[in-house]
Amino acid sequence: MERHLETVDLDTGSWLRLDCGHPAPPARRPDGTADCALCDRAQLPAGLIADGAPLRQRAPWPKQCRFELTPPAWAVLRLDSGTAFVSGPGVPRPTMTAPAQVVLVAGARYRIAPSDDADLIIQHFRHPCLSRWPGEPAEAAS
Ligand SMILES: [Zn+2]
Repeated sequence: MERHLETVDLDTGSWLRLDCGHPAPPARRPDGTADCALCDRAQLPAGLIADGAPLRQRAPWPKQCRFELTPPAWAVLRLDSGTAFVSGPGVPRPTMTAPAQVVLVAGARYRIAPSDDADLIIQHFRHPCLSRWPGEPAEAAS
């Protein structure tokens, strides 16, 4: 997954990392981007902390409900009951049966189709050092 390099300035110097929160890989392009294999594997960056309370969406869902989700931040989607079809980067098996959970990569697009008896919980995370996430509008930065 293509990510942008950013420089982190510290009192002790500066270092490069990707805007997803992962370390910068050795292979980088002149335009300031690099491919992040850790994002491709949906590996949560180190040091994340929960951002707010989990969002819970309980059954019943409308029949044949399908939606797309592009989480602006890293998130974990948990399925407490029912089944759900989830497709997107890093999802090992698209059909989930409760109890199950999957990591949602920041800025990646997912298609979700919950069964009508599914209980879904999404917990977003933030990185204490990142001002904003990939794909997040600059005005949403806090
Ligand atoms: Zn990454």
